[in-house]
Amino acid sequence: SSARLVSEQPLSMEEDVFIRPQRLNEFVGQAKVVNKLSIFIKAAKARDEPLDHSLFCGPPGLGKTTLAGVIAREMGGELKTTTGPAISRTGDLAAILSSLKLKDVLFIDEIHRLSPHVEEVLYSAMEDFSLNIIIGKGPMARSIRLTLPKFTLIGATTKPTLLSAPLRGRFGIVEQLDYYSVDELANIVLRGASVLSVTIDEEAVVEIARRSRGTPRVALRLLRRVRDVADARKMKVINLQIAKYALDLLGIDENGIDEQERKLLSVLIELFGGGPVGLSTLAAAMSEEERTVEEIYEPFLLRNGLIERTKVGRVATKKAYDLLGIERVKAFPE
Ligand code: ADP
Repeated sequence: SSARLVSEQPLSMEEDVFIRPQRLNEFVGQAKVVNKLSIFIKAAKARDEPLDHSLFCGPPGLGKTTLAGVIAREMGGELKTTTGPAISRTGDLAAILSSLKLKDVLFIDEIHRLSPHVEEVLYSAMEDFSLNIIIGKGPMARSIRLTLPKFTLIGATTKPTLLSAPLRGRFGIVEQLDYYSVDELANIVLRGASVLSVTIDEEAVVEIARRSRGTPRVALRLLRRVRDVADARKMKVINLQIAKYALDLLGIDENGIDEQERKLLSVLIELFGGGPVGLSTLAAAMSEEERTVEEIYEPFLLRNGLIERTKVGRVATKKAYDLLGIERVKAFPE
């Protein structure tokens, strides 16, 4: 599945640095969130304090990391990034925290995957910028308290419900990022094209935006792949025709549904009669991990009404049958 086009892997670092918006006014879309943040940032700066700890929720690729970088820059600090699963011991967290400088932003992706004892250490760091660590073992053990510079913690999560209540409660700002409109994605593609020095006409931009599943990361990835096809054919300008040709070649259909998702639908319909079928069975039949199926393939299918999650398992909808052009033998459940 690593070759999957619309997988949610981050872009390669070198190019990404240029494509990522640097300031809040370059950040496309998420108007409500951006509005609020700009007020909070202004207020924090006027008080000469760091921005409150913030939690950004939402699916991968919607700009949580980008927003953290923008905030760091607006506040005049540096962005340090890590992930929940990467901090396995309290010592790891202590090392990261003690490297922070005033106004820095510490970004923890997948923050719902922090272990409970690491969370524990994070609480006092968030609350009073102090670090309580125990050194030594047994009777020799002693606790020391370090004072940290004032920093902002930004957590990102795809699964806010998995966050423990005490951790969630320590964020002053909690925002949900939404999928982007075609117009917004078109803006992002245009910006990406100018950074990558790609000449592309408007219809082609809109075509890429339409097939990007509401997700900037996907839009930028499709732009690159379309550029590859255009380059290979020595086309100087990407027009609608070449964009369509490239996207079709990539197996991305009109709705942005890719091959893996179509495979899920066809397994669900052809192997399991449209369901209901449990996640583990479905994942096994696709030779995929349950997590991949649940977190990457299913959300888009659910959002587009192609499958439903019921208590007894996953079910294909009429729309899914129509999409695959398969006639359903039994009646659809009410
Ligand atoms: P997340 O952290 O939510 O997974 P990222 O911040 O890594 O998402 O964004 C994925 C890609 O999409 C990055 O290359 C980023 O530059 C781009 N991107 C995301 N949101 C926007 C936006 N609002 N405007 C422009 N580009 C964006």
